[in-house]
Amino acid sequence: MRILVVEDSKVVTRILQHLITQELECEVDYAEDLASAKKLLQQHDYFVAITDLNLPDAAEGEIVKLVLARQIPCIVLTGSLDGDQRTRLLQLGIVDYILKENRFSYEYAVALVKRLQRNQDVKVLVADDSMVSRKFVRSLLEQHLYQVIEADDGLSAWEILQDQKDIQLLITDYNMPGLDGFGLILKVREQFSREELAIIGLSSDDDQSLSARFIKNGANDFLQKPFVHEEFHCRVLNTLNSLDMIRKLWEQANLDYLTSTYSRRYFFDHFEEHLPQIIQKQTTLSVGLLDIDFFKQVNDTYGHDVGDEVLIEFAARLRHFFGQHFVVARFGGEEFTIAFKGLTADKAFVLLDKFRAQLAELPIRTTAGELAITVSIGIAELVDESVDMLLQRADKALYDAKESGRNLVCLAPE
Ligand code: GH3
Ligand code: MG
Ligand code: MG
Repeated sequence: MRILVVEDSKVVTRILQHLITQELECEVDYAEDLASAKKLLQQHDYFVAITDLNLPDAAEGEIVKLVLARQIPCIVLTGSLDGDQRTRLLQLGIVDYILKENRFSYEYAVALVKRLQRNQDVKVLVADDSMVSRKFVRSLLEQHLYQVIEADDGLSAWEILQDQKDIQLLITDYNMPGLDGFGLILKVREQFSREELAIIGLSSDDDQSLSARFIKNGANDFLQKPFVHEEFHCRVLNTLNSLDMIRKLWEQANLDYLTSTYSRRYFFDHFEEHLPQIIQKQTTLSVGLLDIDFFKQVNDTYGHDVGDEVLIEFAARLRHFFGQHFVVARFGGEEFTIAFKGLTADKAFVLLDKFRAQLAELPIRTTAGELAITVSIGIAELVDESVDMLLQRADKALYDAKESGRNLVCLAPE
């Protein structure tokens, strides 16, 4: 990533330089005036440009047009701005403008670059039957580098959401033929929680109760049309930021911090939720309990950090082998568990024994060199019992595997 900073004030340049090296991993070119910026723009492709509005050789903001003509997102720094200037700048299609007031202004600029970087991976679906309105929202989103998908009514928005599960934000109009904004939100919320998919409602209707109704129906936020550029971006940003925050919290609670497999807590929550159905439908369920052999020796010989490396790689292999179809969790220490929904103990045995053999064949690469690691495994299949009982039986089978010489898979008797 490469950034262009065009600024004639030495002080401002120095502050930006400091913040950028601290916050961003990127190459930066600095230009003091329009002429040197022009030269740099001919030599390089830039991810974003941060430009002062008044330069010694171009006092009318010419730099902005130059940058935008090259399709480079532009963040404008300025000492002052009247209402007309502001409107004109925003109409040109800049990312944002920042008043050079204090340290926070520059921090904001750098945070904005960071966000632009992240936005490239964020998919936003815009559902609106008015093409003009859709294109307007698209252009605002594209200024901030989001990936934009359009739908011209509620039903096609619904279909797109079925197809592309990685959409993070839906911006939907209220009045649409067929399925309207409320209908769409109600349908979406049957499938996606507020944490999985954020929704912002839009409407030009001046019915005062609309915003509350949107939110009560499941939207995260609401915007009254017509809205201004900054308001739109603030709402989108706040919505996505809270989505990120909730996801982080979820991960902290449900993923193991070292190996990023599911945590013990997730494993039990998952069962509490699904067990009634598993029992009711008489679905087969087996669990495997895995414990690395002589792991303490790894720690004692090579140190705890190398032990961690082994755990990380071991967990990665487990996820790679089983993670697509089954729940893999770290139970504690060097003990992992896998829930095989739909598999008998015999079928789980075949898979686990294959994994065991592959692990024994392929040493784990660490900073202390390649280490030969083996694992012992116990398996039990659910009969009329609690999850605790099931795990106890798997643990007993694991104990048998250890007792019988390790690097083995054992089945619990029924
Ligand atoms: P066995 O074959 O009987 O399972 O022997 P073992 O040495 O693997 O079993 P033991 O339970 O005696 O030792 C497990 C060790 O795992 C002890 C503990 O210090 C280590 N351990 C637990 N959690 C971590 C961790 O997060 N990182 C590292 N590096 N070691 C851990
Ligand atoms: Mg062990
Ligand atoms: Mg152990």
